[in-house]
Amino acid sequence: MRSPIPEYLDEVLRNCADDRAGAVADYVPELAAADPEQLAVAVSAVDGTVYEAGDSRSPFTIQSISKPFVYALALADRGCEAVLARIGVEPSGEAFNELSLEEGSARPRNPMINVGALTAHTLAGPPGAPREERFERIVAGISAFAGRRLEVDEAVCRSEWGTAHRNLAIAHMLRGYEVIEEDAPRVVADYIRQCSLLVTTRDLALMAATLANGGVQPVTGEQVVSREVVRQVLSVMTTCGMYDAAGDWVTTVGIPAKSGVSGGILGALPGQVGIGVLSPRLDRHGNSVRGVRVCERLSADMGLHLMEAP
Ligand code: GLN
Repeated sequence: MRSPIPEYLDEVLRNCADDRAGAVADYVPELAAADPEQLAVAVSAVDGTVYEAGDSRSPFTIQSISKPFVYALALADRGCEAVLARIGVEPSGEAFNELSLEEGSARPRNPMINVGALTAHTLAGPPGAPREERFERIVAGISAFAGRRLEVDEAVCRSEWGTAHRNLAIAHMLRGYEVIEEDAPRVVADYIRQCSLLVTTRDLALMAATLANGGVQPVTGEQVVSREVVRQVLSVMTTCGMYDAAGDWVTTVGIPAKSGVSGGILGALPGQVGIGVLSPRLDRHGNSVRGVRVCERLSADMGLHLMEAP
């Protein structure tokens, strides 16, 4: 018998297809060109079985959804203590691109906002590794979560570099406070390349399933990062993953998650499922409008809320 899940996922997408609220991100010109009608969902069990509907094989740039994965690589490569000395774990309640540091310590508040993500980028790979080697560690590491080699979208990367003033300001601030020790524009250039890696909604589901599966990629069987690293990453995603809508998200959907400006959302429920969704129009917090709706439906219908007794 065929699984009823594909029909169910089609129905979930149809149900919110008419919602045209929100707007496509336009601070990066190339992102403004995205088709706002795209809509996709993919759900992966922790054994790697993927169910998908809509435009689940269409590529888009990973953007901020790269942040938890690069944080995971930094934790794996430098250890939790060294990373915590540089990047906090407290929700900021601020926009993702705010220029702010913890008072007193001058640490970025968490790795899910740009100030922390730029810092995490510099902590991937062995200390003192050349930029090229570090970038390869990041591409190979994120690719290992997906189970296939990911490529950079050069057009989006160039386009973002042209409007990177805010990230340059953040990186210069980090350099000024000696949180990073490298050339600020180079860190931004590499971070933007990291954000320009192309993924599909199906990839997001499998990357999430790897987190849900204690760091083991369910299809390749590779232990990408340790269970301890996954626990740290999912904890930070729970409190900081959905920008300043984290409270709304955790009470309604109740799954550790991360969203990005392309309109993707990745959610991982430990021991159960990985979820990927895509719809480019964003709400005022920067989260995909229909993506949030799809996740609310999945959480309610499948009883996925973390705080609910089975
Ligand atoms: N490339 C984007 C930036 O740093 C990623 C932001 C996001 O997805 N919120 O501005």
